[in-house]
Amino acid sequence: MAHKWVYMFKEGDMNKNLLGGKGANLCDMTKLGLPIPQGFIVTTEACTEYYNNDKNLSKDIIDQIKSSLTQLEEISGKKFGDTQNPLLVSVRSGARISMPGMMDTVLNLGLTDVSVEGLAKKTGNPRFAYDSYRRFIQMFSDVVMELPKSRFEVIIDELKEKKGVKLDTELDADDLKEMVVKFKEFYKKELGKDFPQDPETQLLEAVQAVFRSWMNSRAIAYRRMNDIPSDWGTAVNVQMMVFGNMGETSGTGVAFTRNPSTGEKLIYGEYLINAQGEDVVAGVRTPQPISHLEQDMPEVYKEFMAIANKLEDHYRDMQDMEFTVEDTKLYFLQTRNGKRTAASALKIAVELVKEGMITEKEAVLRVEPKQLDQLLHPTFDVTALKQAKTIGKGLPASPGAATGKVYFTAEDAKAAAARGEAVILTRLETSPEDIEGMHASKGILTVRGGMTSHAAVVARGMGTCCVSGCGEIKINEHDKSFTLDGKTYKEGDYISLDGSTGNIYGEQLKTVEAEISGDFEKFMKWADEYRTMKVRTNADTPADAAKAVEFGAEGIGLCRTEHMFFEEDRIKKVRKMIVAKEVEERKAALKELLPLQKGDFIGIYEAMGERPVTVRLLDPPLHEFLPTDKADIEEIAKEIGETYESLQATIDSLHEFNPMMGHRGCRLSVSYPEIADMQARAIIEAAIEVKKSKGYNIVPEIMIPLVGDKKELEYVKDIIVAAADDVIAKSGIELKYLVGTMIEIPRAALLADQIAEEAAFFSFGTNDLTQMTFGFSRDDAGKFLEDYYARGVYESDPFARLDQTGVGQLIEIAVEKGRKTRPDIKLGICGEHGGDPSTIEFCQKVGLNYVSCSPFRVPIARLAAAQAAITQSK
Ligand code: PEP
Ligand code: MG
Repeated sequence: MAHKWVYMFKEGDMNKNLLGGKGANLCDMTKLGLPIPQGFIVTTEACTEYYNNDKNLSKDIIDQIKSSLTQLEEISGKKFGDTQNPLLVSVRSGARISMPGMMDTVLNLGLTDVSVEGLAKKTGNPRFAYDSYRRFIQMFSDVVMELPKSRFEVIIDELKEKKGVKLDTELDADDLKEMVVKFKEFYKKELGKDFPQDPETQLLEAVQAVFRSWMNSRAIAYRRMNDIPSDWGTAVNVQMMVFGNMGETSGTGVAFTRNPSTGEKLIYGEYLINAQGEDVVAGVRTPQPISHLEQDMPEVYKEFMAIANKLEDHYRDMQDMEFTVEDTKLYFLQTRNGKRTAASALKIAVELVKEGMITEKEAVLRVEPKQLDQLLHPTFDVTALKQAKTIGKGLPASPGAATGKVYFTAEDAKAAAARGEAVILTRLETSPEDIEGMHASKGILTVRGGMTSHAAVVARGMGTCCVSGCGEIKINEHDKSFTLDGKTYKEGDYISLDGSTGNIYGEQLKTVEAEISGDFEKFMKWADEYRTMKVRTNADTPADAAKAVEFGAEGIGLCRTEHMFFEEDRIKKVRKMIVAKEVEERKAALKELLPLQKGDFIGIYEAMGERPVTVRLLDPPLHEFLPTDKADIEEIAKEIGETYESLQATIDSLHEFNPMMGHRGCRLSVSYPEIADMQARAIIEAAIEVKKSKGYNIVPEIMIPLVGDKKELEYVKDIIVAAADDVIAKSGIELKYLVGTMIEIPRAALLADQIAEEAAFFSFGTNDLTQMTFGFSRDDAGKFLEDYYARGVYESDPFARLDQTGVGQLIEIAVEKGRKTRPDIKLGICGEHGGDPSTIEFCQKVGLNYVSCSPFRVPIARLAAAQAAITQSK
């Protein structure tokens, strides 16, 4: 039998990979006997086939679409292009994971000059029929032929002016008929061909357009932000249209079975009487809360509630449902597990366990690790908030506190964020084109739109604070200003938003950090029960270390000692050390630095208790510390008794063309062993002191960076061991310590068996390992990687998400070889990737002992590691 590319709803199962999330659920709901407008699904495999086939539908796929259409005609009792009772369909995307608003949709497909009359006759409502037709022409032209919608708006405005009316709703059936003629003329003029009058052609074109929209720029950007692979492709759902805009006994809406912002167990949603779905989502008219439906249509409300509850019980999760009432008959158009804020996700997961719907283990898998970030973000300082004046209020669409400068376009917002500004993107309403600007912003404010508008849905998904639907705002997007509460705010002015209350403030407000408590704490405890990898943190100050412990860090995986040298009072001492010509001079400078370093380590050990602490020896290129300012150079020259010219010459001699591959890491200790000596002494002396004062049994882990050869490691290790043993012997106190290395140079990974002879532990420095494996400079790659994403060469930033195939292979080699030499070798990761969930999954797979990441990512890493442990043990 030929390969199956198309499935009727009644044929499909819950195979989301093949049918997409929406399609699989529609099949499932059909099986449950729910009122679903029937249809069929063109599979994700067909999407891949379409791309493999040079963006053409194969004959097989076309034949199967056509025969499914015939079946749909039979099921519905309607016919495509019919003069009496025409079948109309919607054509929608449906990826495995929902990507709201990122891809294209065509509604009312099947309308032609002939079938529009059929629809008018059948419904007895010619105005409705022609309104649907003109909407379809507009949408088809936009999505399939790429003729912008706005060009049609001009025609609409001209017609309204001619008729002397202000609103679309004031146009009658004849006006709309005239509009259709004008639209078609415009279509022909622009494209040199008639608007297609054959519904089958319309359908095949629309299916391809949806496939193409998988590769539009906003879908690409969304996938990158959400780690969705581009080879998944999208399915296409072709579904019989039902109409919510057939008068006062019709309507359409969106609802959630629990509140997506707070998690409260209460049906939550909005609907509009006499409207089509796009009207609700686009936020053009402000919808009614779902509770009103009970008054508007009590019977429908009852049925709606029963089905909503049934769906939640069936999927054992909060549902996001779209429904339409066509002349008092209720239909569910789709359901999916609803997107939600982190607070809502936690509350729902905890309550579903309480209700006996899911197990703790399942609950742990229900929360997106990256989302936890939202809970760790700041809220407004209470005192600052008390004194602040509210200038307006919108809907609390996505929680959190944001303060920043106002920008009015997504582009400006993105540019300002790139300059390091905190941005509040302010728009009449957002659309999917704004996605990147929204991502770059701290907060989003819209004039129009409800809680289910595009801005609200997308902001919640991103965890960005959003206040939507503040109708009091008079916005002038052209002038880049808005007026609220009698005051005009211009581009660059500060405002603040509270996404949890909807309050807007006309000033910059102080924010405070978040705390872990309640549901969060309980949930994280469950996660920790399943986690097998440890989670450490990258911290170089006692304050960061303490914060990380509060977030659940079980040790320090990377303490970068160079960060301790940048402080005002230390940099001069470091500079003297670097420019020293003689060893004795350098030793003298280092002697001054030792007590300072030791003080830092004491603070860190005290914050960490007996948790393991890995301290890395000085790593960065020395020139980073060198003075460039003439006055600074003169001052140091004077202090060390040199001339300005001679010191400048020393500084010039230290210049490197490629500092990232230059004199840094263990290479510094090879040249200047006294640096490693001083640092080892400081590390050990501090541990002894804390052992004495607090009784903590500390086992310092001394880490040597940028090693590429066993001999290099041996050389530096000998210096460390000599210094450490000397300090320990003199103290008369027993202290164990470990010496290990980073694996961040490909050569070290390849020779890990030899390196492990000298190293008690490996920590993968995936920042450098990525840099050196790809040959991309860490400092410069950001500038051109954007081009890689735009052109589909790469899907994600290899510096953020580990390249598992290339860099990952080096890690696997090093793990295997390292363990062969030293079976009990401790293995961890401390590059930026250590806090990235997909990388953490990989670390679990290759058997690392721990991951280490910045303090704020510790909870994310804990959850990601728990999920990896659960899914990999299945
Ligand atoms: C690394 O290279 O991954 C690393 C952690 O070290 P640094 O970022 O300090 O070079
Ligand atoms: Mg490094």
